Amino acid sequence: AEFTAPRMRRVRPSPTAVISDRVRALSDAGVDVINLGEGELDFDTPEHIKQAGIAAIVQGDTKYTAVAGTAALKQAIINKFSRENQLGFQPNEVIAGSGAKQLIFNALLATVSTGKEVIIPAPYWVSYPDMVSLADGEPRIVPCTEENGWKLQAADLAAAITPATRWLILNSPNNPTGAVYRAEELRALADVLLEAPHVLIMADDIYEHICHPPAQFVTLAQVEPRLKDRILTVNGVSKGYSMTGWRIGYAGGPAWLISSMQILQSQSTSNPSSISQAATVVALEQDNGFLAEWRAILDTRRQKMMACIAQIDGLSADQPPGAFYVFANCSGMLGKTTPKGLTIGSDTDFVEYLLDAAHVATLQGSAFGASPYLRIAYAIDDERLDEACTRIILACAALS
Ligand code: PLP
Repeated sequence: AEFTAPRMRRVRPSPTAVISDRVRALSDAGVDVINLGEGELDFDTPEHIKQAGIAAIVQGDTKYTAVAGTAALKQAIINKFSRENQLGFQPNEVIAGSGAKQLIFNALLATVSTGKEVIIPAPYWVSYPDMVSLADGEPRIVPCTEENGWKLQAADLAAAITPATRWLILNSPNNPTGAVYRAEELRALADVLLEAPHVLIMADDIYEHICHPPAQFVTLAQVEPRLKDRILTVNGVSKGYSMTGWRIGYAGGPAWLISSMQILQSQSTSNPSSISQAATVVALEQDNGFLAEWRAILDTRRQKMMACIAQIDGLSADQPPGAFYVFANCSGMLGKTTPKGLTIGSDTDFVEYLLDAAHVATLQGSAFGASPYLRIAYAIDDERLDEACTRIILACAALS
């Protein structure tokens, strides 16, 4: 008997989860695998934030809260948007959820239906197209090029908009490319969007704090206030505060949309963890000077990875200004032969080879909608990163 719903045919298991499973299997078999596949900082959650979580438990902040978040958290979110992004929101225009992922999913489920299209610039975060499909919509993938710094061009956006377009999803700093949109680039996109009043815009700003000068983070609603009532600005503490496991994301947008997202949340997951909410208030309200230190460490690692790539014949990349990924072109690897006599025919083959021969896990660009590329997440311990670089260089040198 077929028990799964037809909608399950429209969704694939996350390709990142597939590689994580393989890494786990190899590790369990005693292999020393270095994982450059994970979208996570290796830093610990800062002590004062952890203590706030502990204090919440001790004080008995362990019950249901308002579905969209406690009053204290909503105020902290409003203050954050005002202080860091010059965006003004009322309490009914913000919501907290169990990760940015849940908020993006709820926003799409609340607004997308059969026949509606969602413009997704590629390369993209792996979850966007599947979320759109689960919501019965059509992902409309718009390829971006390495030459354009992986950024959506205004003319390509204009060409992709149809009467059926419901959303454009923008993600800066970008996963997987590390691209950061400059204000004038967002300005050019805003001009197109002002002419398309039926299009909503999702600004996924989850990597906001991981942006290296001279690149400067700016979000669309700040660049064009006239679009603000059509923008959902999504953010969270996972990436910036190294709090992936706490599962808190938040968003600011028009009251009608926030209200729909809240209704969905009320009938599915309810409020995000009360303990994590209390910790997030502290994360957002207290001094985040540690971020500069983290960025300096990440910058060093970024340089290491760039130096590694520069040494390898067949790999190339421009230095990414944001996030903690390098999206390297591996077209020079195609057609090469491994010591075992296999031919590398795709970026997936190359990822397999690095995992087999170097015990280094990365992700193929095809998972993100661009081939042949390699996403390398460099947010790991310096010594391990050095070791990973050495292994990759050796494995690539063994190709003929
Ligand atoms: N958006 C992007 C682009 C991401 O890379 C991720 C996490 O990988 C998320 C959203 C989801 O983050 P959260 O942990 O807040 O659900």
